Amino acid sequence: MTLFNICVSINIKLISPLGFWAREVGKLIGLEHPLIPVHHQYVVTGTVPEVKALKKEIPVLRDLEGSYYLRQERDGLLFGPYESQEKMKLQESWVTDGVPPGFGKELFESDLDRIMTHVEAAMDMVPVLKNADIINIVSGPITYSPDILPMVGPHQGVQNYWVAIGFGYGIIHAGGIGKFLSDWILGGEPPFDLIEIDPNRYGKWTSTKYTALKARESYGFNNIVGYPKEERFAGRPTERVSGIYEELKTKCSMGFHAGWEQPHWFYKPRDDVEYKCPAALTSAVSRRCLWDDRGLSSSKRQRRVLCFLARALKMAAVTCGDLLPAPVPAAPDSTDVCSGPPKIQRAL
Ligand SMILES: Cc1cc2nc3c(=O)[nH]c(=O)nc-3n(C[C@H](O)[C@H](O)[C@H](O)COP(=O)(O)OP(=O)(O)OC[C@H]3O[C@@H](n4cnc5c(N)ncnc54)[C@H](O)[C@@H]3O)c2cc1C
Repeated sequence: MTLFNICVSINIKLISPLGFWAREVGKLIGLEHPLIPVHHQYVVTGTVPEVKALKKEIPVLRDLEGSYYLRQERDGLLFGPYESQEKMKLQESWVTDGVPPGFGKELFESDLDRIMTHVEAAMDMVPVLKNADIINIVSGPITYSPDILPMVGPHQGVQNYWVAIGFGYGIIHAGGIGKFLSDWILGGEPPFDLIEIDPNRYGKWTSTKYTALKARESYGFNNIVGYPKEERFAGRPTERVSGIYEELKTKCSMGFHAGWEQPHWFYKPRDDVEYKCPAALTSAVSRRCLWDDRGLSSSKRQRRVLCFLARALKMAAVTCGDLLPAPVPAAPDSTDVCSGPPKIQRAL
């Protein structure tokens, strides 16, 4: 009896929560789940005296410009970079040739060179790292869906086959997803709307090439502020183009819906037709689009992160001032990085 027949014939739900093996198991019932592993690395230091001396654990720091997260690990520090879409590494052979038999909790070979600019940025931001011993560089597979959101719920096409796969942040999401799924199965309906993670947002149009290009883009955008209604262009157009796509594509701004390119609005004569990222301040702690500010001096970048961190710390009532350099006063004529106008345009 094949897995397909089992799913159809039994009256219980078969859930696939199989991490990077999900693609292989999907194939057993004729499904090509659009998943691809990416290589993600984090660096662990030995004891850092300044960290050891702290009375409270430091909060997680996210430096969007340096593109890494940093947190305390025992008496040391741990930081994990997200490389750009050009630099990051996909494990494409697991898609074309399958996952090597027996691969479980093994790791990939680490590659410090690939993340060196992020390591330097972290040392710049948190100077105690400069004297810290690196005791481990962990490199492992994270299973990406094209948009880095998981695929959770009943899968179209095969009765009783449910999935909980494609978790880019599976540790963070695990508790909520477990409750969401169990409430749905016990109650017969999803307890609330999570249409974003519906597995059926993908389909036969979701090619391996599209999955790889989008996973690159999603990984590369990990630490870039996202805006409502922004367009992301990797992997487009897919094979789902209508007969008038070629005719329309220079006449209107195209949006992307379930694989299709669809007109959002039509240009008027003399319209500036270049794509611009929608501009906005996005959250209660005034996150700003930092994309255009990579030329800032390191002291300005430090001040900007400190401004952000200061707000976070105020909320958390925790101090980690000993770890970070003292804020450098702004030059009189410079734009105040805490209250200056947001840079809003993203170069795509
Ligand atoms: C270096 C690194 C750092 C990370 N850091 C974070 C982080 O800080 N925060 C965060 O949220 N996420 C992080 N992640 C991602 C996170 O680890 C994954 O998203 C998460 O583990 C995915 O959970 P999962 O249950 O989908 O898959 P998995 O954790 O892979 O679990 C799948 C399970 O299914 C089992 N299985 C597979 N096939 C079969 C089969 N045929 N029969 C029975 N069992 C089977 C496997 O043995 C495994 O135990 C990190 C990942 C890496 C590699």
